[in-house]
Amino acid sequence: MSDCDKTALSGLTLDQLVAFSKEIGLPAFRGKQLHSWIYAKYAQSFDEMTDLSVEVRELLKSKATIALLEIAHLEVSRDGTRKYLFRLPDGKFVESVLMAFDDRPSLSACVSSQVGCAVGCTFCATGYLGFKRNLNSQEIVDQIMCIQRESGRRIANIVYMGQGEPLLNVENVCDSIRTIMASVGIGARHITVSTSGIVPGIRELAKQGLQITLALSLHAPDDITRDIIVPINKKFPVADLIDACHEYYDATGRRITVEYVMLAGVTDWPDQAEQLADLVRNLHCNVNLIPYNPTSADDGALVYERPSKDDQFRFRKIVERSGKTVTIRLERGTDINAACGQLHNSFAETKQGH
Ligand code: SF4
Repeated sequence: MSDCDKTALSGLTLDQLVAFSKEIGLPAFRGKQLHSWIYAKYAQSFDEMTDLSVEVRELLKSKATIALLEIAHLEVSRDGTRKYLFRLPDGKFVESVLMAFDDRPSLSACVSSQVGCAVGCTFCATGYLGFKRNLNSQEIVDQIMCIQRESGRRIANIVYMGQGEPLLNVENVCDSIRTIMASVGIGARHITVSTSGIVPGIRELAKQGLQITLALSLHAPDDITRDIIVPINKKFPVADLIDACHEYYDATGRRITVEYVMLAGVTDWPDQAEQLADLVRNLHCNVNLIPYNPTSADDGALVYERPSKDDQFRFRKIVERSGKTVTIRLERGTDINAACGQLHNSFAETKQGH
């Protein structure tokens, strides 16, 4: 049996591992042992599973692999940020990013939920590529496990802010969140789902009873600007989005993170700061301002200018009149362009409020 015909185990739930064990003629408790080796000990091979007999290990080797994803490329930034390019079983690729912060011991990972993206934000290379397909739950969970196996370190926070729009893949994203909570051992309060503003997806997520954080990538306070830079806005305009965020808070009690990318001359005008302050004044939220980071023009995304520090601070001062906590993003991994649409690590400063 070639490796591609074998069953990959990492990313499966406990029930699925038990079912697999039975399928290959092993008792159910072997599934529990596999679960422990994969999720608690980050086993990379069946030979490490020393409480299994040699015969059982050989049987497993003949029927299964541990990882579903393959690390096709890894870049490490000067600040310790690690960007992974994963090859999926069908040969397509997605990226994940691992971020370490000097001021706290815990690690955060940014995962992808789709191959490509249909939303088409003008500043985002993934949007330019277009939508290819949804990731399934196992493909999402194994991004985290691959990172833990490769780095040997435990991830404490997850953000769905890599490639793709998670709320256009709600079912798989919610399944993966449940597996992350039950198997990887990361609590809901350490998980953030970031959306470009899919109103039905926000409502669906609110119904799930998960205590996760919702991050709204707002990026512009008015429909005219937002229609251009986040084209899904034509379908779900700003007022509807803010209503959906209120509903999310009412259903979950979780404060929203409002993400706002500052593009010089496009979204950083003082009157836009005032409109943003008005929008968030009555919303239970924090605001995270993301100064645009110009990347190379050859990735297909439009290239904008980054506002000056003075303009960034002026903007923040105005938004602070809303009474909300307003932070400006901490830079991570810029030397390796560890970005999906500039948004990959924008939660870095805002997590403190959740
Ligand atoms: S920023 Fe996010 S939602 Fe927008 S195109 Fe890129 S991946 Fe899609």
